[in-house]
Amino acid sequence: MSKNLRRDFTNRDEMVSYLRQEFVQADLLDSNVSATPGGRKAAEAQLNTIYPKKYAKTRNYIDGAVTRLSPYIRHGVLNLAEIRDKALDTVDNPDDAEKFVQELAYREYFQQVYTTIGDDIWESQEDWKTGYNENDYALELPDDIRNGQTGLACVDGWRNELVETGYLHNHVRMYFAGYIVHWRRIHWKAGASWFLEHLIDGDPASNNLSWQWVASTFSHKPYYFNRENIERFTNGVYCKGCPLYGDCDFEGSYDEVAEDLFPNTNIAEEQRQNTQRRNRNRSRKG
Ligand SMILES: Cc1cc2nc3c(=O)[nH]c(=O)nc-3n(C[C@H](O)[C@H](O)[C@H](O)COP(=O)(O)OP(=O)(O)OC[C@H]3O[C@@H](n4cnc5c(N)ncnc54)[C@H](O)[C@@H]3O)c2cc1C
Repeated sequence: MSKNLRRDFTNRDEMVSYLRQEFVQADLLDSNVSATPGGRKAAEAQLNTIYPKKYAKTRNYIDGAVTRLSPYIRHGVLNLAEIRDKALDTVDNPDDAEKFVQELAYREYFQQVYTTIGDDIWESQEDWKTGYNENDYALELPDDIRNGQTGLACVDGWRNELVETGYLHNHVRMYFAGYIVHWRRIHWKAGASWFLEHLIDGDPASNNLSWQWVASTFSHKPYYFNRENIERFTNGVYCKGCPLYGDCDFEGSYDEVAEDLFPNTNIAEEQRQNTQRRNRNRSRKG
């Protein structure tokens, strides 16, 4: 029979030291304590801060109007329907909440896939579209990534945020996963299980399927990026102080990066054609 845990504490520090004693193994794995408070009261307070209209325009920026509701959703403190209803209450026109509700729907979709496939969530759902195969990817996460010692200010910064706060912005999760899988050719499973060690919203459905989406085993092409994109959506916070600025692994246009990462595919060529098409359209518009 499982032991009933104490619930009465005079303050958070007392609760944290009690939990450290009760969960010694977890404390050894990661002794950081997230600043996010638990409980329904804190969840409702966070829910009252959401701004769906601004979310739609700014969600890809690390200082955009994201909600940080995921830990409460993950642990069943808030449910998706009440969050959707709250979002619709805060807008004059329901269209202004559409992007936000779509993201909630993604979470639900991933849960439904998990319900259907169970432990197969740990298997690649489709072939890789990177020009490489399952066996080309290393199964161990290298120490320089795990310890934040790659020398890349952004990557080491993301690692520290992950380990110290248990939260990463969605765009940062995408960059970090893309770096691990495509630049370092590490299997998505190694990165996914490391994320689950630290994320306070860690959830096999959203996590593993998102890693697979980045990897291309749950999407039609791999997700990748370049330095310009990181600089733009992070307002330069990492690039500014990076000793490798201008000469880092992410430098180059999208087709140059794709050429390096996926030389045995036509991804770079498609990227070049897309860019040419976009430029032609732009010059036509004048
Ligand atoms: C590699 C990778 C790993 C991820 N691992 C997890 C995980 O373990 N647990 C988890 O809950 N989410 C995960 N996500 C999805 C997403 O990054 C987080 O849900 C989101 O960043 C949580 O922050 P938020 O509450 O501020 O999100 P907001 O942007 O404010 O979104 C509101 C809610 O919508 C849902 N949502 C938003 N974006 C996504 C998305 N892309 N996919 C699925 N649901 C979304 C979440 O429930 C989120 O709380 C992962 C994404 C990637 C790319």
